[in-house]
Amino acid sequence: MRRIITTGVTLGVAAAVAFTSGVAGAGAATAAVRPLPDKSYGLSSYYGPRCMPIRGASTYHLGQDMSAKKGTPIKSVAPGTVVKAGSAPGFGQVVVVRSNADGGKVFAVYGHVVDGDKYVKAGKYVKRGQRIADVGSSGTSTAPHLHLEIWKRAYKGSGSTTDPLPWMKNHGASLTAGAAWAYQRVVPKSCNYYTTTTVNLRSGPGTGYRVLKSVKVNRWLTAKPGAGSGVWRKVNYGGTTGWMHANYVSPGLTSLGTRYVEVNGLRLRSKPSTSGKVLDSLSKGEAVKKIWPTSNGWVKVFVNGKQGYVYAKYLRK
Ligand SMILES: [Zn+2]
Repeated sequence: MRRIITTGVTLGVAAAVAFTSGVAGAGAATAAVRPLPDKSYGLSSYYGPRCMPIRGASTYHLGQDMSAKKGTPIKSVAPGTVVKAGSAPGFGQVVVVRSNADGGKVFAVYGHVVDGDKYVKAGKYVKRGQRIADVGSSGTSTAPHLHLEIWKRAYKGSGSTTDPLPWMKNHGASLTAGAAWAYQRVVPKSCNYYTTTTVNLRSGPGTGYRVLKSVKVNRWLTAKPGAGSGVWRKVNYGGTTGWMHANYVSPGLTSLGTRYVEVNGLRLRSKPSTSGKVLDSLSKGEAVKKIWPTSNGWVKVFVNGKQGYVYAKYLRK
């Protein structure tokens, strides 16, 4: 279902959506355009509180994620001036374009691109729809996608973000209408995380706060979506609520590295007990990936394409 946006289609809000380029003679456009080709993307992660999708990621998502193939061309949603093109923490590579809209300044941020200054440079004027970058997976990202943020007044500092979905829709370029697919927009009640190393649970969001507990690697934590302050995450461990640095909090388990089988015929079992079904028999010297220390001396491992449990004392570093 493709919608053709022409001048005037935005109807009652036409006055509010006018973009001006700020460049004499460049003319004025009346609406935004979708940053990716129609049906080339899916809506994968929405603006607002969420569970961290990857170690160190935000728990309050400041943008809209558009999942697409690596290399998909990214167009500027509006005419404007490039204020940043290159590397930035978290984004890996980013392009930021400043436009005149909504009676002030609006900044569109295109994150995780392949190469921020491949097509544009800071200070350069770009037209609406002009290719400014390619979809990549640079920075804190699990797979190729465009992370689109819309800031008002300023980019960071005194500026504030707004949800790109209604913003784009109000400017005549619904991201939903152009999407090939979309995940359901739900905010979970609680997030499940694990520690990535031995880490301190503190009474506040900073290293100056008191240590409540020292928590070992791969311990289960829970958290409320959006519960964070900068790089700190508010989590609960075993009934104690405190703060941990986001870099040591992950939605998945952390592999503890490779171990080697010390005996011949070591049984890989379906559960951490001698009553577990035997899945495989491992030979002396075989390499296994120890991923999860369980109780009673057993570890969960990946070996020969199978996942199971072995007795830890028969493994060596
Ligand atoms: Zn994102």
